[in-house]
Amino acid sequence: MNTLLDSYGRQITYLRLAVTDRCNLRCQYCMPAHGIDIVDRKELLTFKEMYRITRVLSELGVNKVRLTGGEPFVRKDFINLVESLSFNDHLEEINITTNGALVTNHIADLEKYKVKSINLSIDSLKPDKFLQITRRDQFSRVWEAYEALLKSSLKLKLNVVVQAGFNTDEIIDFIELTRDNDVSVRFIEEMPFNGKGQRSVEENWNFNRIIQKITEEMPGFEPVPTPMSSTSKNFKVNGYRGTFGIIPAFTRTICHDCNRIRITATGMYKNCLFDDGVFDLRQYIRKGASDQDLKQLFIDTVQKKPKDGFEAEANRKTGGVSESMSTIGG
Ligand code: SAM
Repeated sequence: MNTLLDSYGRQITYLRLAVTDRCNLRCQYCMPAHGIDIVDRKELLTFKEMYRITRVLSELGVNKVRLTGGEPFVRKDFINLVESLSFNDHLEEINITTNGALVTNHIADLEKYKVKSINLSIDSLKPDKFLQITRRDQFSRVWEAYEALLKSSLKLKLNVVVQAGFNTDEIIDFIELTRDNDVSVRFIEEMPFNGKGQRSVEENWNFNRIIQKITEEMPGFEPVPTPMSSTSKNFKVNGYRGTFGIIPAFTRTICHDCNRIRITATGMYKNCLFDDGVFDLRQYIRKGASDQDLKQLFIDTVQKKPKDGFEAEANRKTGGVSESMSTIGG
């Protein structure tokens, strides 16, 4: 069987697929208050196209897909895409990253359609601060989703973007959620993907600084085994039920065993979060590419996967990273 092996011997088994570029929140670090320039609907991949791309990739060894956005639940009938993907037996995992505001009513369907885990993004446990970060008054709905997800069969991870001087005082409060709950809290280094065309990241809250703060305030924790290709380094406080982890998204110390590729909502293929898109799949498909054409394209393009996020960033033709994660598919 043909598989997706890059020139560094890394096997690609994981697709991150953005199902829309639209979002119902306006997180400060992700996009300007007025939002990003969303594309015309016909420029978005259709669900059929997404299903087909995923099927072809799954025949090349991709066994895990993460649906993201924008906010996936904002796209009309998103649950139908989840249902159709659940029929693909090559997929061992369907996971979703969401802000949770529109999730609660869909949990039963997600369980039915074999979704394994939900990454719920929540950067503050305080409603007023949540409003400040997201510019939308949605804390209670997100918290309702959190509580409902805890009761569900879905594995739950929380994504917390660590923002200097803004929510760093809540790091320990987030870890405290793992005391009695089977939840994994992951602190993400903030990246310069803010949709403003400018870098705005204070690099001081990187992995080391986060772990230093936790060590000072919560000394009794141990590393837990981290699966190969995990995006986070994980830990557990002694006696707590859940775990916490740190995603070195900006310092990029996890690239060596990267097994991921990305496809944006408009069908741009990306070998790395930090590249500026290497192939326009939408055009290729709409010009009539066969499954075999697509397979060959994926096999060839994966070969060009850069060694790490630094190399990807250096090779960008469009300058430094400035687009929103809502466009890239976080
Ligand atoms: N709307 C969904 C959500 O909120 O989870 C999915 C898309 S969102 C772009 C995916 C993840 O990217 C979220 O956890 C978000 O916090 C994170 N993210 C967005 N911009 C980021 C940035 N500049 N640095 C670090 N993480 C970022």
